[in-house]
Amino acid sequence: MENFDELLKKYADFIVRVGVNPQPGQTLIINCPLEGAPLARLCVRSAYEAGARDVQVNWSDDAVARARMELGSEEALTDHKPWQLRRYLDYAESEGGVCVLHLIADDPELYAGLDGNKISRVNAARRAFMEEWQEYTMNDRVQWSIAALPSVPWAKKIFPELDADAAMEALWKLIFDVCRVTGGDPVCEWQAHMERLSALRDKMNALDLESVHFESSNGTDLTVGLADQAVWESAASKSEKGVVFLPNIPTEEVFTAPHKDKVEGVVYGTKPYVFNGQLIKNFRVTFEKGRVVDYHAEQGQLLLGRLLDGDEGSRSIGEVALVPASSPINRSGKLFYSTLFDENAACHIAFGASYPGTTKGGTALSKEELLARGMNQSHLHEDVMIGAEDSHITGKCRDGRTVELFRDGVWVL
Ligand code: ZN
Ligand code: ZN
Repeated sequence: MENFDELLKKYADFIVRVGVNPQPGQTLIINCPLEGAPLARLCVRSAYEAGARDVQVNWSDDAVARARMELGSEEALTDHKPWQLRRYLDYAESEGGVCVLHLIADDPELYAGLDGNKISRVNAARRAFMEEWQEYTMNDRVQWSIAALPSVPWAKKIFPELDADAAMEALWKLIFDVCRVTGGDPVCEWQAHMERLSALRDKMNALDLESVHFESSNGTDLTVGLADQAVWESAASKSEKGVVFLPNIPTEEVFTAPHKDKVEGVVYGTKPYVFNGQLIKNFRVTFEKGRVVDYHAEQGQLLLGRLLDGDEGSRSIGEVALVPASSPINRSGKLFYSTLFDENAACHIAFGASYPGTTKGGTALSKEELLARGMNQSHLHEDVMIGAEDSHITGKCRDGRTVELFRDGVWVL
């Protein structure tokens, strides 16, 4: 790619300015794998230009992560120390505050072949330990954002026919395309895109829906009752201090909170799903009174079981999101094997926690108050794709009307 440097700079500026949006006086923490160093360096400069007080980078490495998971004892891997949490909280509690950018270079099969039970327990222990910090991000108290860059194993997974260099270049090009970086000015394009999504969000909120019904020829027939005072959200979020940011780059969804006890029917997964560095393919789950009572997967059945048995709330869903089949990610025709992208190619539901912001005034409510509204609670939040090219989606309003939302996989609202 002859203009690679220029595109990378645009991507970095967009991630920083629109994505995590650091404010003057604020500290930005960037988590980044080693192969992301060129992008991270540009992000650091861009953040200082935006007025950040300090920018810190935590480097990681997949090979080290895999070696630790394979060779480290479970006792050591679950022995978390206070500084691992305090390195976020100390800044969150300080005057200028903090924001966090996760640059990720997924290897969809990072932990392939390793002991799945051990991975689940280690990850669950980490989530429980980090809960106090997770509360900041799940409630949008601080700005946070996730953006991707290619890694060789990930690029080879998407482009198996290419050699490593060509696959990396192809994946960079794909990321620049679906993140709207290739054409012109990404900051402007995103502003327009976010306005379109906000208009759909406003229409959805005006309908005052009680439930949403999904149907498609693959056998999906699912009714998702919504949480009490559910609010539809889109793209941009707002932090406690009123700073607008984009949690996921890219984003195409309009989403809200289901009622944890009011989901009924059967739903088929339409894209493979990566959980704990391993694959779940062609799955189906059946819900009764909001909980999964039956499940099956052609690949990764055990893994799906482990996900669903993660904790008290992981058999119920905490998010339902509408994404048209016309999204650039779906139209690219590529399966990314990365939730960050694949969830923006299709309608999805998430097993586990709901976002408090998706019920009215929810970020100020206690856990008990949220549960009383039907907002699911869990340490997990795992998006699985259920939208099909022929998805037909209708909404039932609280006044009894039925409104068509999607026909043949795209918005008709
Ligand atoms: Zn979502
Ligand atoms: Zn989600």
